Amino acid sequence: MITPAVLDAVRTAPLPAYVYDLGHLDAHVRALTSAFDDPRIEVLHAVKANPDAELLRVIARHVDGLEVASGGELAHVRSLLPHVPLAFGGPGKTDDELRAALSTVDRFHVESHYELRRLSAFAVSAGVVARVLLRVNLPVPGTGGAALTMGGVPSPFGMDPAEAARAASDDLPGVEIVGVHAHLASGLDAPACAALASSVLRWAVDFGAAQGIRLREVNVGGGMGVDYGDPSRLFDWGSYARRLSALVPSGVTVRVEPGRAVSVYSGWYATRVLDVKHSHGGVFAVCAGGTHHLRTPVTKGHDQPLVVLPFDASCGGPSVVGAPVTFVGQLCTPKDVFARGVWVERVSVGDLVVFAMAGAYAYNISHRDFLMHPCPGVVHV
Ligand SMILES: *Cc1c(COP(=O)(O)O)cnc(C)c1O
Repeated sequence: MITPAVLDAVRTAPLPAYVYDLGHLDAHVRALTSAFDDPRIEVLHAVKANPDAELLRVIARHVDGLEVASGGELAHVRSLLPHVPLAFGGPGKTDDELRAALSTVDRFHVESHYELRRLSAFAVSAGVVARVLLRVNLPVPGTGGAALTMGGVPSPFGMDPAEAARAASDDLPGVEIVGVHAHLASGLDAPACAALASSVLRWAVDFGAAQGIRLREVNVGGGMGVDYGDPSRLFDWGSYARRLSALVPSGVTVRVEPGRAVSVYSGWYATRVLDVKHSHGGVFAVCAGGTHHLRTPVTKGHDQPLVVLPFDASCGGPSVVGAPVTFVGQLCTPKDVFARGVWVERVSVGDLVVFAMAGAYAYNISHRDFLMHPCPGVVHV
């Protein structure tokens, strides 16, 4: 679960720290993207999963482009990677963001009719034509399970079919509608992802025909599942790619847009044990840092996978042997829990605790100013 390079780093770096293994990421993204050997399918990466510059540089070597969801992400990515193709999505794009994006973005994923009208006006005054995919909110076929569904229900994301039809039939200057974008669920396995893509593609073909749009592009979104309970259970990219290949409508480029499943496995959050306590029959290991650095287990309601590494027992602090231990941080709130009741052979003050699957929606979603503890270090190996 921990690569040798990361193991070296956590033994020497000041902790708490995020440690990213760029070699691990490079191999993972290479394997993921090479599963899509059909030239009609392209892979974009959703930057919101992790904006770390070193990670983005590695990922950009393998993908067909990046999806940014704010003016901040757009400026950040452009300064790092001046030439990578970009799609600009996300609700609530401001006038300034739309204007700035016109000169540098390849595709706009437009979230509302009003946004399309504003984009049209800005494109006309800039003397350019913006290429647009209408982001739609469609019912999701029986995905069930652990999946988080955002489609077919009231949502601030995208347009429902009626609004999409109004936007498409508006015939605005300065914008060329080339297709449809749909990101409707997350936490899906390969068959569920393919079933979702299939219904989006069928809907998009019908929509194009009904609206007289020559459908050239459909972005079927991200949401490929990862399993925090079993880090070895990976999304089956080969199976998804094969299934998707069989679904590509003629004349259409299909894009997928994973975020989490791209970088989650290549980041670790490492810390050390400050105290070991018994309380009313429970055992707690209090770790340096906390969920203000690694908010993922709180937001997702899971136990973050971890290993304990014996390190420095010279302080003579307490320890516990062969017990279920709850790993917490330094925050004064009962929500500050990394993992509950994890069976450990032994944990002592001074040990290292290394949390895996911390490469996506981890540091960047955390409320790091809460309680004014120091920020974690960030180490790339
Ligand atoms: C967040 C997001 C993604 C990536 O989702 P993952 O679950 O991280 O794969 C892709 N597209 C859009 C529009 C998103 O908002």
